[in-house]
Amino acid sequence: MSLKHLKVVKRMFSTGENTPRVCIVGAGTAGFYAAMHLTKNLANVNVDLLEKLPVPFGLVRYGVAPDHPEVKNVINQFTKVAQHPNVKYYGNVTLGKDVSLTQLRQHYHAVLLAYGADEDRTLGIENEDAKNVIAARNFVGWYNGLPSDKDLKVDLSHSTAAILGQGNVALDVARILLSPIDELRKTDITEYALQTLAESKLKELYLIGRRGPLQVAFTIKELREQLKLKNCLTIWREKDFKGVEEIIPNLGRPRKRLTELMIKSLKENHKINEGDLSQKYFMPIFFRSPNRFLIDEQKQLTGVQLNCNKLMGDKPENQTCVPTEEVEVINCGLAFRSIGYKSIQVDNDLIFTPHGTVANDKGCVSVDNSTDLANLYVAGWLGTGPVGVILHTMGNAFHVAKLICEDLKSSNGLVNKGGFEEIKKALPSNNEIVNWNGWEKINKHEVQQGELKGKPREKLCSVKEMLEIAL
Ligand code: FAD
Ligand code: NAP
Repeated sequence: MSLKHLKVVKRMFSTGENTPRVCIVGAGTAGFYAAMHLTKNLANVNVDLLEKLPVPFGLVRYGVAPDHPEVKNVINQFTKVAQHPNVKYYGNVTLGKDVSLTQLRQHYHAVLLAYGADEDRTLGIENEDAKNVIAARNFVGWYNGLPSDKDLKVDLSHSTAAILGQGNVALDVARILLSPIDELRKTDITEYALQTLAESKLKELYLIGRRGPLQVAFTIKELREQLKLKNCLTIWREKDFKGVEEIIPNLGRPRKRLTELMIKSLKENHKINEGDLSQKYFMPIFFRSPNRFLIDEQKQLTGVQLNCNKLMGDKPENQTCVPTEEVEVINCGLAFRSIGYKSIQVDNDLIFTPHGTVANDKGCVSVDNSTDLANLYVAGWLGTGPVGVILHTMGNAFHVAKLICEDLKSSNGLVNKGGFEEIKKALPSNNEIVNWNGWEKINKHEVQQGELKGKPREKLCSVKEMLEIAL
């Protein structure tokens, strides 16, 4: 516990034995794991989970790819947490719109911010707003049925597309675009996405990285899946791998295995076969940074101009790229920007770092010295930045929840706080709150609709429909 937090905790003292009330903002991975830790370690704690959408699970529902159902099994754990008698779920309540941070800190003993990263980073280059330049984040939201992305225009009438960035999100996007459609039919991908993908004319997909094969951000499992796709050949550029094989023995194990897999695939030496109309091609290229999007008179994308880079620095993992004089153009009718997510400052009281996270010390957020306001904490991508898989986010959430437990236990009795009963009084009168029972109705409906199509579920994609079913 930080000294500053200790002082605030001491000020929460009173003579009564009141129930500790914790508010968690964001019912995603970090929010649920924090609630799990709190209920396991504080016998009488009351945890309220506030969520902007009517439905829970954050990126597990709206990020994780539809063809990765095993990853979504964490939802079973989260459901048990939500069904704990001391946990309450309040969906369709948005921090920064329906409720302010000050209100939450007035009515709870601790507030944990776990509202993730809901925007994407931009490249800041010319014509980024052109038609058919889309954020991977929106495309992921679109195929996963995120209400705000359901109407995204996804134009798959072009034969060539490019993904900018080489992380696991980029590989998810590539796999969804290149997978045989019948493989996707049995997943929970939205029906409209299936229809659009079924009519796709896409044949060649570039995956463009600003650094080299030794710096890719994607991981071996995801690359292996991509390499195994039916009717899709991977074509690497041999020149990008100059000197790479010699470095392999010096690499750490995960990077070594990943690089060996890339080299193995490179040596298969696939080529484009113009005569085979059913074949698709996945074409990673390295040492290229987008410097502008090329457009025609209708502002329709025609290509991406790339700076050719060289790497500077000694250790491969720390090498940075610098542009040379050379440029290259990739002609394409569609481009996906996949260079990372970004958190939003939803309340003016929050201090953000230049990296786009809430300023914090291992999860504790520095706050003003008001005596009657709750301590503030941050967990998940909002505190760590938009990196890490569910397991990392879980570890971080457990760590921060442990701090909250320690802080609450070290306070000798707490002043009485009203929790959500008080928050509710201040909410707009037309605010329709979805409780866990409401989510279970939505869940049941989605699973039933999915059964009719042989899918695990058919998601509801509009908030209005969700509310109609839940309430
Ligand atoms: P989130 O899960 O996004 O939760 C944040 C929650 O806060 C959301 O429910 C959001 O609606 C809510 N919220 C936002 N704003 C507000 C507000 N103002 N008020 C109230 N609530 C709000 N990891 C894996 O291990 N395996 C995978 O296959 C995998 N696939 C991924 C695919 C994609 C496309 C992405 C982006 C990530 C993937 N990850 C995967 C990583 C994993 O999703 C993250 O590590 C994890 O979900 C981050 O958790 P979080 O709680 O910080 O954010
Ligand atoms: P990421 O892993 O950070 O990858 C971002 C990519 O964008 C990197 O290749 C990065 O290159 C590149 N990039 C960043 N800024 C750029 C710029 N200005 N110009 C050009 N390229 C730029 O982010 P992500 O793919 O969004 O994934 C986020 C997290 O979710 C990761 O931890 C990921 O593992 C996880 N995730 C996991 C899965 C899974 O397990 N299946 C699926 C999806 C996501 P540099 O390396 O040069 O910066």
